[in-house]
Formats: sequence, structure tokens, C-alpha cells
Amino acid sequence: MSQEFQAPRGTLDWFGARAGLRRAVLDAAREVFESAGYGQVVTPTFEDTGVFARTSGEGSDVVRKEMYSFTDRSGRPLTLRPEGTAGVMRAYLEHMTRLPQPVKVWYEVPMFRYAAVQKGRYREHYQFGVEAIGSDDPAVDAEQIGLQRRWYERVGVRGLQLLLNSIGDGRCRPAYLQLLVSYLDEHADELCDECRERRDLNPLRTFDCKEKGCRAVMAGAPKITDHLCEECAAHFADVRAHLDARGVAYTVDPGLVRGLDYYTRTAWEWQWNELGAQSALSGGGRYDGLAEQLGGRPTPGVGFGAGVERLVLTLEEMGAGPATQRPLDVLFAVLADDARPRVHALMDDVRAAGLRCDAAYGGRRLKRALELADRRGVAAVVIVGDDEWGAGEASVRDMTTGDQRRVALETLAEELRR
Ligand SMILES: [Zn+2]
Ligand SMILES: [Zn+2]
Repeated sequence: MSQEFQAPRGTLDWFGARAGLRRAVLDAAREVFESAGYGQVVTPTFEDTGVFARTSGEGSDVVRKEMYSFTDRSGRPLTLRPEGTAGVMRAYLEHMTRLPQPVKVWYEVPMFRYAAVQKGRYREHYQFGVEAIGSDDPAVDAEQIGLQRRWYERVGVRGLQLLLNSIGDGRCRPAYLQLLVSYLDEHADELCDECRERRDLNPLRTFDCKEKGCRAVMAGAPKITDHLCEECAAHFADVRAHLDARGVAYTVDPGLVRGLDYYTRTAWEWQWNELGAQSALSGGGRYDGLAEQLGGRPTPGVGFGAGVERLVLTLEEMGAGPATQRPLDVLFAVLADDARPRVHALMDDVRAAGLRCDAAYGGRRLKRALELADRRGVAAVVIVGDDEWGAGEASVRDMTTGDQRRVALETLAEELRR
């Protein structure tokens, strides 16, 4: 049979064990963050293009190259969500400024970016993210990082490294950027073309370049942590004190910057270093400048987004992870035609009594039903052939021992639960 359509490039179909692992990862995240007062937020999949263009910075790669933008049939400029924070802040400013502060929310939604496709990087990808909006307290930053560690521990990811930095704010960063730009100018002939372009658009991003020459130059670049204003330095010291008290280990990495312009102060990244190259499992940070870019009053906020695909792939590579789908308890093989309506109804009763059941649909042959039971790892098979049906009974076959016994249909649910 020829297959005419395939999933679009850069998208994934989730099913089977991997879908089970994905859900376990998300269930754990929800539990951990709801224990700290986070509640779910669901915002639209598309927003006014301005929400992202304004907040991400016109010079960012996201806006210049990666957004899925379109005009709808009424000519409105819209964009599929490329990241989570801007839409949540838009919703906060529209509906949540009068709620008790900070407003703590989590979300679990797809993001869309037209970027180069590689392992763990997709054009539609899911993120579990949280935002706490309305407080600049460093305890909130550290709390999110600490909860994240608990989430990762609970799902069984080991050997992660936490990178931490402060990227200053509107008071101290401009002067630092001047220093950085003049340093980049001194070394312009050692930088790649892209970094020379970044010098004007987003000089902090030169720290992200993977080119060997650029990395050598950036190793000697002035460090933001040496140029923080008093308030930013105190905030950063406080975040670290809170992490120390939780026993959360981290490495201060002055080269850890954020690609989006609205980020301020705390920035962090959880990395797993065994996927060959370093692999960032999640990135977070403070964005005290975001609300104003959307026309709101100055409102501090902090949050992170964690890629679900990368986490699931990492767990698969580690051979670890939470238990996935529980196998079925019982498979029903109804071989007598007349018995089908009654026994299928009975199967629902058994399900309601707490057992996981399925049927060998469309099958009239015992052999095929038993093969199916084997493939699905079922503990027991309920067989109702003409003989059993005539007697008002079923045969229950134990798939481990092969033993078979007859049970009255009346008492089947009870018997199976035993
Ligand atoms: Zn470069
Ligand atoms: Zn500052």
C-alpha cells in the first residue's frame, strides 16, 4: 500500500510507549509545580504578530527567520506561538493584574519555529513551562529552579548540570554592552560573519556561537557578572543563597545569555552533557522588562520553558524513566456470535471494577486471540465460545501458567479481580 502523506518535516507523531513516557513526564511536572501553588494557564495557539515581534526583538533569529506568520481572511497579522512567555504576559496584562501576586502559572503547549530540523529539535515542539509574574523576589527564581530539580529527579534524569548567570538590567547592561561591543570590534577579524552581524543586532548572542574562533575570542570577553549594578549583584547573591540552602549545585557561567531582549537578571539552563554535544534541556530566566514592551505597567516576572521531546529522548537514551503504560489485565475473546452484546457489556463492568480490559475484535479464532494476548502482555484471557455461552459461563485462562478454569458469567467481574 502506498502512503501518500507523511507528517510534515519537523513534526512528531506520539504513540505507544513513547507517548506513555511523554505523559508521565508531564504528569510529574504538573504535580511538582502544583505543590507550589502553580495553576494551569491556556493561551491561544496564535497571537497578534506584534506580541512576539515586539517582545522578542526585531533583530532576534526568531523574528527574522523562524516565525510561522500569516494573515487571516480578514487581513489580521497573526503568528503561531514561537515561545511561551509573551503570550502568557499578554494574558496576564489583560486578565490577571488584580489577582493575588505573584500569579504563578504552568502550561504545556506546542511551540512553532521554522528552524533547522535535527534530533531533539522540531518545528512543532512541546514545552512544559512556568511563569511567576508580579514579584522580583529572588526566592521565586530559586524556587522554580529547585522545583525543576525535583521534577527531573522524579522522572529519573540524572547527571544534569545547572548553569546560572545574571545578565543585569536596564541600569547596568547598557554600559556593559558598550564594553562588549568595543571588545568585539577589537577582535572583529577573528569573528565569523554571523557574529559580526550580531555585534549590531544582539551582541550578547556572540556568546552562543559554536565556531572555534569565536569561542576563543569570547573566552576573553568582559563578563557581565563583573559589571552588575549594586541591586542586580545583590539579587544574584540572594538567588545563589537560596539555591545553596536547597543544596542545588550550579556553575556560574557568564557566557550564558538569552536570545530574547526582554530577559533581565537571573538566567539559567539545565544541560545534559552525554548526548555527544551539550544539550540544553530547559532554559529559564527573569524578564522584568517584558510587561512594558507589551504596553503594561512595569511588572517583574520569571519563568522557564522545558522541551518535552528532548527530555523524553534523553530519558530513552539513559534507559531510565518513569514506568510507562501499564499493560492490559484481561483480554476478552468472544467466539460465540450470540454472546457478543452481553459479554462486551460485561467487559465494561469489569473495567468499571478497576481492571484494564480489551477485546480481540472481529476475531472468531481462539489461536489469534491468544497470539494477541501474548503480544500485549495480558495476564488473563476470558474465552466465551459456544460451549461456555450455552452454560452461562466463561473460561478464564491464566497466561503465565496456561491454566484454565470455568467461571459463571454472573460472578466474572468478582473472579477476575481476585
Ligand atoms: Zn561566531
Ligand atoms: Zn543592574
